[in-house]
Amino acid sequence: MNTIKKVLITSQGRKFYAKDLNEDLHTQYGFIKKEDLKKAKEGSLLKSNTNKEFFIFNPSFIDLYRKIKRDAQIIPLKDIGLIIAETGLNKKSRVLDAGSGSGALACFLAAIAKEVISYEIREDFIEIVKFNIEFLGLKNIKIKNIDIYNKIEEKNIDVVILDVPEPWNAVDNCSKALKIGGFLVSYSPSVPQVADFVNAVKKNESFVYLKTSEVVEREWEVEERRVRPKSKGIGHSGFLSFARKVKN
Ligand code: SAH
Repeated sequence: MNTIKKVLITSQGRKFYAKDLNEDLHTQYGFIKKEDLKKAKEGSLLKSNTNKEFFIFNPSFIDLYRKIKRDAQIIPLKDIGLIIAETGLNKKSRVLDAGSGSGALACFLAAIAKEVISYEIREDFIEIVKFNIEFLGLKNIKIKNIDIYNKIEEKNIDVVILDVPEPWNAVDNCSKALKIGGFLVSYSPSVPQVADFVNAVKKNESFVYLKTSEVVEREWEVEERRVRPKSKGIGHSGFLSFARKVKN
């Protein structure tokens, strides 16, 4: 697998990835010789043929994650952050997510959790997820070709996250798969989906509904004393609804 071997960053924060240390790395600031890439120590400064400077270091998870293959709309980092924070997802957690899509959420959570199981109905997406799992070198994630509206094979799950068009159709299956005290999270782009999901959760006596939130992240520009929000618009991603399983 042609994974990323080194990260190079300019002092202005422009990032480049070297996949093959046996080839020169070409950038818009000129190229860096393969000999320099190979012998560079972490944190050392390299120069391109046009004298532009780059710091070099080994990739960490987030560097690799930002380069995964993506097809279906992947969940943004800001929303992953709230899921982790609200559920307290950690190295002891067994997590189930559906649908996998490109596996972005499943892979991010696998880097934190004990185990992730991901359900996906489309074979072409399953191939992308498998590629990404290998690209990231994850060993604790399983992908299954299962329709979550039909069944969940696992039991005693700590957190289930739904990113499917009709999450209300999976609520009863999720209640059986979750352990008592476990969390059900649903991620949906539109308001009618939130209404139908939350109403289904409220009808199911195993769950207590907690809350629905939207995370708005606004990036700021900091140039000397010119400090202001970036003019780029804030796009909408989705709403996150949280429920907790309280009894069987
Ligand atoms: N969270 C994912 C993106 C999910 S996109 C990521 O971060 O990459 C939604 C996916 O759900 C699509 O790939 C779709 O094929 C899948 N899907 C739709 N209905 C499903 C179902 N009933 N069971 C499992 N997967 C389903």
